Amino acid sequence: MSDRYAVVGNPVAHSLSPLIHGLFAAATAQDIEYTKIECPLDGFEETVARFRAEGGRGLNVTVPFKLQALQMATRAHAAAREAGAANALRFSEGEIEAENFDGLALVRDLTRNLGTPLAGARVLLLGAGGAVRGALRPLLAERPASLVIVNRDIGKARQVVGELGHEPRARCCGYGELGAERFDVVVDGTSASLRGELPPIPATVFAPGATAYEMVYGKGLTPFLLLARQAGAVRLADGVGMLVEQAAEAFTWWRGVRPATAPVIERLAVPLT
Ligand code: NDP
Repeated sequence: MSDRYAVVGNPVAHSLSPLIHGLFAAATAQDIEYTKIECPLDGFEETVARFRAEGGRGLNVTVPFKLQALQMATRAHAAAREAGAANALRFSEGEIEAENFDGLALVRDLTRNLGTPLAGARVLLLGAGGAVRGALRPLLAERPASLVIVNRDIGKARQVVGELGHEPRARCCGYGELGAERFDVVVDGTSASLRGELPPIPATVFAPGATAYEMVYGKGLTPFLLLARQAGAVRLADGVGMLVEQAAEAFTWWRGVRPATAPVIERLAVPLT
């Protein structure tokens, strides 16, 4: 019988994870079954327990259960603890292990796939939700010159930066305080693009030669990417690479075999026009 994995979320119908893991399994000759589980909002623990009791080996966890996934772990790895959320679970005898690969995946997509150096870069992160929280430490580990977090709810941004402890390179502000400061890398980690909205940034945030990265994927040229292009950003990307890279990390964690990501990213990419 194939080893069983799944993505659990609500909603989950749109998830590309079964396709991605199916492609990884075919490419690496791994015998797995990977499904989607639409979980009732009040039934996460029961759903995970049932999947595990039926022999499930691991789960990807998506909105809105990443916090609960961390809470039910018996062993939380550092990235999940630091992010305060888990996006992958692994089951072994007596253990529920929690990991979070979102931040690592963003960094890998930026640096390896897109050739955007982060060392010494001025980085602007839009948003202060779960995705940004997970991205902060992996981004800082690349030694940027500065990392600014901007959010509508400034209290949330302050909390996220405060949790970093003493970190002189990181600070936060409201959109109205961005002023004329310019950035080499601007990452939209908000959900604004899901609704075709533009976070209220001035076009001047993009330094000449900037990279603009949209965590939302599959939406083509979003208002954020359009603004970036008009402002002269030279590299535009959506979050499909991040999605595939976090899936590859989970696959490697579960199976001990690393799949190639480039062919899968190429297959899923939507033109940014
Ligand atoms: P959350 O719901 O936790 O946070 C949403 C954030 O977006 C908040 O900071 C919110 O600001 C901000 N926001 C929403 N609408 C607007 C707007 N119109 N203008 C400015 N800010 C806005 O979501 P997540 O952090 O979990 O995810 C954010 C996005 O990243 C999602 O859309 C998701 O699809 C994407 N994502 C992609 C991944 C990938 O692999 N490519 C992985 C994880 C996430 P406020 O606090 O002020 O309300």
